[in-house]
Amino acid sequence: MASTTSPWNEPSSWHGPKVACEQANGSGTTQDHQKQFAITHITKAPITSAPIRSSLIQQLLKEQLEDLRDCHEGEVADYIPELAKANPEDFGIVMATADGRVYAVGDWEKTFTIQSISKPFMYGLAMSLLSPSFMEKKVGVEPSGDAFNAISLDPRTGIPRNPMINAGAIATAAQVWRHDPGRAEDLTLEFFSSLAGRPLAVNESVYESERASGHRNRAISHLLRNAAVIEEEPEPGLDLYFRQCSIGVTCRDLAVMAATLACQGRNPLTQDEPLNPALTTRMLAVMGSCGMYDYAGQWLYDVGMPAKSGVGGGVLAVVPGRLGIAVYSPRLDAFGNSVRGIATCRRLSQALELHLFDQTPLQQSPVRSTYKGTERRSRRWRSTAEAAVLDPLRSQIKVLHAQGVLDFAALENVLGSIEQAATDGAVIILDLGQVSELPAASSAFLKRQSELLQAAGQQLLLCRSSHLELPAALSREKFTYASLDLALEAAEDLLLEKSACEGSAGNGSTALAAAPKGTPTDACLLGLLAPLAANLREAITERLELRHYAAGSLVMARQQESDQLFLVASGRFSIFLPIPRPEAPARLARMATFSEGMVFGDAAFFSGELRMADVVADTDGSCWLLQRSSFEGLQQDNPAAAMALLTQLAIDLGRKVALCGQQLTLVEDL
Ligand code: GLU
Repeated sequence: MASTTSPWNEPSSWHGPKVACEQANGSGTTQDHQKQFAITHITKAPITSAPIRSSLIQQLLKEQLEDLRDCHEGEVADYIPELAKANPEDFGIVMATADGRVYAVGDWEKTFTIQSISKPFMYGLAMSLLSPSFMEKKVGVEPSGDAFNAISLDPRTGIPRNPMINAGAIATAAQVWRHDPGRAEDLTLEFFSSLAGRPLAVNESVYESERASGHRNRAISHLLRNAAVIEEEPEPGLDLYFRQCSIGVTCRDLAVMAATLACQGRNPLTQDEPLNPALTTRMLAVMGSCGMYDYAGQWLYDVGMPAKSGVGGGVLAVVPGRLGIAVYSPRLDAFGNSVRGIATCRRLSQALELHLFDQTPLQQSPVRSTYKGTERRSRRWRSTAEAAVLDPLRSQIKVLHAQGVLDFAALENVLGSIEQAATDGAVIILDLGQVSELPAASSAFLKRQSELLQAAGQQLLLCRSSHLELPAALSREKFTYASLDLALEAAEDLLLEKSACEGSAGNGSTALAAAPKGTPTDACLLGLLAPLAANLREAITERLELRHYAAGSLVMARQQESDQLFLVASGRFSIFLPIPRPEAPARLARMATFSEGMVFGDAAFFSGELRMADVVADTDGSCWLLQRSSFEGLQQDNPAAAMALLTQLAIDLGRKVALCGQQLTLVEDL
């Protein structure tokens, strides 16, 4: 469980005692297809200039840096002579988040060589070029108890134990070289540059120094050749290994590379995708078990992040899905890990509760709210006949609003809610608008659930899912709707259809099928004017004129004069209101949809103000229009008929207002 102390409510204790490098010496207390894994996208990486941020987080890193500056334990690596030139006092800390924010303090711009931190990335490159299954035959994934530079192979398998020790890393580099001898180094540099988000280059002096002094690594490469792990002469592969280790990076570069791993292979600053999720999972797993030399077990126990360190003084750690951390400080402990690097990561892990196994159970329900169709209806206005059929059935509509990441645990919860809602004849609407991620396994479950419901005579409709990847069977029009409103309308239509199928001839459904015959009387009898005495109705209808509209045509537009009243004779007409959005064109939202016998355009007709909304014909249709001048004529010639019309319109408006008010109140309460 997460501890309850936060770095901010206990400012003096969170970063631990002043003795800076406590426990840094290891005595701590505590068959794939190649294509599937192919690199999806490498561009010539641009130089990213995301600003270094100044904030509370920055301040926290700075406190950390100041606190650990007093730590002078450890020695700068000198077995590669050029590395001994590093300034032991250099110290930089950088954090890069999954959404591309970078916090950097200290010597974050100083270039040093990546050394062993290149190993997991080279392994990722090899897997993407040759497939994971191929690489599994060349290098194992078991932690080794030996030193990182041990001249040994796993006696059981005859191959290097893992790609994080030199034997495994040299075998990996040899495979990358063999894949494309002419371009291996360019491929490597392009790949690393894409991970860091800026062009990287080899430090030639370190490379020369490493090549000249790397007798042990040369011995390892010959051992690999002898064991046929390397199929060609060992020198070119070994040379590529020396060059990959000599790539110059800054602490910021490493943090961005770590963040790219945290983002499943997408660089959060450039949006390049040098890796894919399947590869990053494997890389992080190997880093988790073998990344910190012989300190890997204690590291995972104390710090709990997949990580890799290098003898150049860098440490890179990943909080999967969240962020990357990099530290640069060249003094190393007996295991070859940066002393301050380890201490920094341990403190950050504790203070910020970043330990991988410190997972809090789901705090937020993945189902935000549930209610029935009685509490929220579509903006499609229903005729009296339709309403008579639909209203008693509305409770069969169940709406579920899901939220967050629907991983397995969350989806299991959603499925439970769906099952609960799946009473006889239910139409369940699952709103995915607030779902940030729907992994493939979860969407497959949803598809299966939808099939099960259908087989039981129920229906699952999804809405607001365009940002998610759904299986083709679910993303078909019949199951997926752009808005909750459209899904509610579809659910209502389904209930009406079902009741029409189930009902016998002569019930409400025959009234629903009635169509206007071409005289005002026929159409209006269904609606607004039906209750009027024949003589009054006639006085009104003879002043109406019929107008036809093709599907999709604009019937009226915002800001127009409002000189007409519309009485729908046939077809469907929708009113759209623009919803302003910050920095985006307004979205047109449906306010209402009307069908035969219903009136629109009445509000502005009476107020005399400009139209406030657009009206579009959803289908081919026609309306009876009452011009303002005709209405004024009616008022003159037949005040009784004008009064009767006004009374009907007032009743209609009253109903609309009452229903809108009720819906608003219910919706506000949901
Ligand atoms: N190039 C270094 C070597 O092979 C890398 C070692 C390391 O960073 O652990 O010795």
